[in-house]
Amino acid sequence: MAAVFDLDLETEEGSEGEGDPEFSPADVYPLAELRAAGLEPVGHYEEVELTETSVNPGPERIGPHCFELLRVLGKGGYGKVFQVRKVQGTNLGKIYAMKVLRKAKIVRNAKDTAHTRAERNILESVKHPFIVELAYAFQTGGKLYLILECLSGGELFTHLEREGIFLEDTACFYLAEITLALGHLHSQGIIYRDLKPENIMLNSQGHIKLTDFGLCKESIHEGAVTHTFCGTIEYMAPEILVRSGHNRAVDWWSLGALMYDMLTGSPPFTAENRKKTMDKIIKGKLVLPPYLTPDARDLVKKFLKRNPSQRIGGGPGDAADVQRHPFFRHINWDDLLARRVDPPFRPSLQSEEDVSQFDTRFTRQTPVDSPDDTALSESANQAFLPPQVLSL
Ligand code: ATP
Ligand code: MG
Repeated sequence: MAAVFDLDLETEEGSEGEGDPEFSPADVYPLAELRAAGLEPVGHYEEVELTETSVNPGPERIGPHCFELLRVLGKGGYGKVFQVRKVQGTNLGKIYAMKVLRKAKIVRNAKDTAHTRAERNILESVKHPFIVELAYAFQTGGKLYLILECLSGGELFTHLEREGIFLEDTACFYLAEITLALGHLHSQGIIYRDLKPENIMLNSQGHIKLTDFGLCKESIHEGAVTHTFCGTIEYMAPEILVRSGHNRAVDWWSLGALMYDMLTGSPPFTAENRKKTMDKIIKGKLVLPPYLTPDARDLVKKFLKRNPSQRIGGGPGDAADVQRHPFFRHINWDDLLARRVDPPFRPSLQSEEDVSQFDTRFTRQTPVDSPDDTALSESANQAFLPPQVLSL
């Protein structure tokens, strides 16, 4: 695997945005059919249709050509997220978000390769009302594509910025939905690790959806704290920063930091640079503004306990212990899970394609997914084969 680190096959950033995207149709195989025939996919392409509700009319070849690019919704460490419309096969006309990850950027850090696979695997296996749904996943020579349900409500961060702070009832609703999502992930043995406002999105109704299950999380754990794409540390638990090993309790710390941000307008530990922020997270004093209600104050303090075993949620009860806290006493958890509780804020959307909740920095861009003329070496591409194939 050492050779992987030397690869630099990515196309120049500047080449994005020129001309029409010319897709090389991905050579894809319906995984279910192959499995039914007792085969596993070989070669570097594969495809899975994951929506249980969609009718699969046979060997639908899914690739980038099935999706018309409508807008740019965001940009992350490994590529762009587009709003797209399905223009071929099943679910014709349906709007999705397409997250495009460049393999060449990922293979630079071998750890990340595992995490990208993790993002896909996690999303494939996790179905929950408050976690983004993966509809399709496929890859071409140089890129990985995740076709996700489009969350037209935008990032919770945008709404928090707009409002400054949330009323306790508003915060309570979002925190409660996130608590259920985290509890579900934990029950599946998954630690989210990177809970922060940018990764929490709203669907068109205003319900919470956790997104972004990739890449950065474990690299932080493995010691890449200063990696530029790892961005925000303000919400990160001290035990991640000091790398003393961590468990699912880190997510409850982050939820506490998020709760503090929602109720006060900024995260609990901030400073002018990363080093000082880190110092504060590790040993700074928690200052609570006087206007917080006693229940909110008590819960924030319990989330932001530096000793993970004393932290609320850190014990065997996990989410159940959080749910029992008096701050949530008005929540009917069954109704909440069934999305029967009205969200505090309903995004005002004109149509399924409305991108008004997204940053115009992105949505004004011409959506172009640069032609994929990249071909990773056979050995580098091994990293992106499905796990079943790798283990053969
Ligand atoms: P990574 O840490 O994996 O590099 P990232 O920040 O690059 O993550 P995401 O957070 O998944 O990638 O996506 C970047 C942005 O694209 C989000 O902040 C959001 O604005 C937008 N986005 C992501 N997923 C969706 C979606 N399902 N629907 C609508 N917009 C989305
Ligand atoms: Mg993100």
